Amino acid sequence: MEAERKAVTSRASEFSRYGPKFEKAVDTVASGGVKECLFLPSGRRVVSVVGTLGDELIDPSRPYCSCGNFFFRVSHGGEETCYHLLSFMIAAKTGRVDILEFSDEEFGDYLSAVVRDVLEVFAKTG
Ligand SMILES: [Zn+2]
Repeated sequence: MEAERKAVTSRASEFSRYGPKFEKAVDTVASGGVKECLFLPSGRRVVSVVGTLGDELIDPSRPYCSCGNFFFRVSHGGEETCYHLLSFMIAAKTGRVDILEFSDEEFGDYLSAVVRDVLEVFAKTG
């Protein structure tokens, strides 16, 4: 884990200006917390990041994150990003996005499970 952290830190040093968020994101990436679910044959992708409270759904292309920090701080312009989105950027840069393949028929079940998790986490951050 320590060796993983060092490897990730050295390859993603341009993100270190985010300070404590960077440290948290490095931990997340080093422990394999960034997952991309690829649904086939449609090619639809859903990216989730394992956070301290549970899984969060992110959409790096918008960018969007389902966490409370993103909702309260980032989308209102107070902060540039949350550590989940930062984790994704670091994982993409260092080739550590964990890609899982599913069939399109599983999409509905997957989405309802993940949305339930997200809502639970959101209720905790209240
Ligand atoms: Zn977030």
